Amino acid sequence: MIRGTAARTGIIIQGCTGSLYQVAIRIHILSTTSATKQTKTFTVCPGCDLLLHEIQPTPGHTVVCPRCHRRLHREQPDSIRRTLAIAASGMLLFLPANFLPLMNLAVLGRRTGSSLFTASLSMFGQGQPFVGLIVLLTGFVFPLLTLSLLFWVSAGLFMGWKARWMPDFMRWYQHLSDWAMTDVYLIGVFVTIIKMNHTADIHFNTGFFCFIGLVMLTVAAQASVDKPLFWELLEGKEKGRQLQEYSVSTLARTGKEAGLVLCHTCHKTLPASLLAQQRRHHGNILCPRCGEIMHPRKQGSINRTWAFICTAIILSLPANLMPIMEVEFFGQSTTNTIMDGIIFFFQEGSYGIGLIILTASILVPLFKITGMILILLSIRYNWTSWLRHKSFMFRFIEFIGRWSMLDIFVIALLCALVQFGYISTISAAPAALYFTCVVLCTMFAAISFDLRLLWDTETTDRIPARQTINSYPTSP
Ligand SMILES: [Zn+2]
Ligand SMILES: [Zn+2]
Repeated sequence: MIRGTAARTGIIIQGCTGSLYQVAIRIHILSTTSATKQTKTFTVCPGCDLLLHEIQPTPGHTVVCPRCHRRLHREQPDSIRRTLAIAASGMLLFLPANFLPLMNLAVLGRRTGSSLFTASLSMFGQGQPFVGLIVLLTGFVFPLLTLSLLFWVSAGLFMGWKARWMPDFMRWYQHLSDWAMTDVYLIGVFVTIIKMNHTADIHFNTGFFCFIGLVMLTVAAQASVDKPLFWELLEGKEKGRQLQEYSVSTLARTGKEAGLVLCHTCHKTLPASLLAQQRRHHGNILCPRCGEIMHPRKQGSINRTWAFICTAIILSLPANLMPIMEVEFFGQSTTNTIMDGIIFFFQEGSYGIGLIILTASILVPLFKITGMILILLSIRYNWTSWLRHKSFMFRFIEFIGRWSMLDIFVIALLCALVQFGYISTISAAPAALYFTCVVLCTMFAAISFDLRLLWDTETTDRIPARQTINSYPTSP
């Protein structure tokens, strides 16, 4: 731990040592009282709208916002080359992982098998085309697109290309990365294996091992992307500096007070006065760096979030009360709700997997809905306490949102693998559609919501006096 104070400039430096990636730096500049103008490179925290001086973190350091504690930047060493190498390897593994046989199941001499791609298509044959489409998109199309976009952007930056499609590709990568769910699919494969382990002989094929490799490479590729660096290089340093330097009142504490508008996607900051000069699309002002629509706050954010949350609450009733899966065993048909599936694992003694399904299918959607309602009510009634905790809760809701798809992936895999004719077959039931819609609605609710609206409820006098990051220790 290091701690230092420079009284003349009023800079307080705090650094915490730990593992390489657990280092946090917080630097506060004490406020000046005169309302003079400063010309510096400013940025705005995307989580709470706090006005900050732009800095470059040292390797192994994480820059966090002093107000909401959101992580603003963590430099990734050799980011472009690493991303390029990992994304290229991931693309090489993508086809074998999806099209080679995943595993074979054998029951009383009858064998069935499936590749990941045919499992993704299985819901179409079950009379569930919408669920089939979502499984196909999140399990196959979006992961392929994410890896391809990342490959082309990092290849372009590595080769020094200045192509116009590169910022568009990067923007689409950011939009799609949350919807590429190969990691959730892999956990779904493990749950399926544990579920079928007692009733069938399981033989793993090449596709299974390729898929594990693909998931590891996809996660590693996403973790190696240094987004601020990628955007800076895509824009070009000179052009970026031209647009980024402007005068801001020293009394302004937030981006809103300083008249700055932040791009939701690439986090480019622009003064509202410059917005009129930017290119437009259907009347909307576009970000000069990434081409995303720019506005001070996400439009209609609260109404749209309420609409998605209310729809999720209504749909969660049939999703939990109606059967989600139908099992035929020697001519006898039984239906299972989500809760029946969880009870099955607990009765079989598979407590760990039962707990995972309980968390992903029941607790996570419940937590997402109640958490979002709490945040929306906080804005409605100006509850300004615990803002930092509510921000953390929202970031957690954003992070866990996609894991609720686990149950749908398990059903898709079971529908593809358990087709033993008269002996046993598994098919999807109506609740699969409702449950998929609940997951989508809660994810769209989080995407629609603008967290800065929560911090806007705090009155100016309660905002810490001009907390601004502008430097960092060379080594902790
Ligand atoms: Zn913040
Ligand atoms: Zn942008």
